[in-house]
Amino acid sequence: MMERMVEKFYKSLAKGKIYGVKCKKCKHFIFPPKAGCEKCGAHKMEWKLISGNGKLLFFSSGNLPPLKFAKYHPYAYGAIELKEGPVFFTQIEGLDVKSVEAIEKQNKKMPMKVKAKVKKMAGMNIVVFKVVK
Ligand SMILES: [Zn+2]
Repeated sequence: MMERMVEKFYKSLAKGKIYGVKCKKCKHFIFPPKAGCEKCGAHKMEWKLISGNGKLLFFSSGNLPPLKFAKYHPYAYGAIELKEGPVFFTQIEGLDVKSVEAIEKQNKKMPMKVKAKVKKMAGMNIVVFKVVK
């Protein structure tokens, strides 16, 4: 079940579509998709395209990226709250991560509006968020 979900999620990303899932029982929204509801434990989930709109709560620089992402280093990594509710950590574009001072200064302006997009990195399609100016 979970493997099929992961496959569907990545196949959709390749087409530029970003899906989350919504619990059919309690309507809780989950992103990234999971096979079971983290709120009520039900296993009946419905695929829903996410709006892509969210806010960045805080971030820092990705100091120790996995090896395959090392060539993109440094990048901003932070907590996003999606409009639909879920909070998760991901990569963010449009921020200055060159110095501790710059990071500190931008963190004082939180929350910032962000928008999801699909980006090809290290041969994979991944969901990143971009700061909306
Ligand atoms: Zn539920």
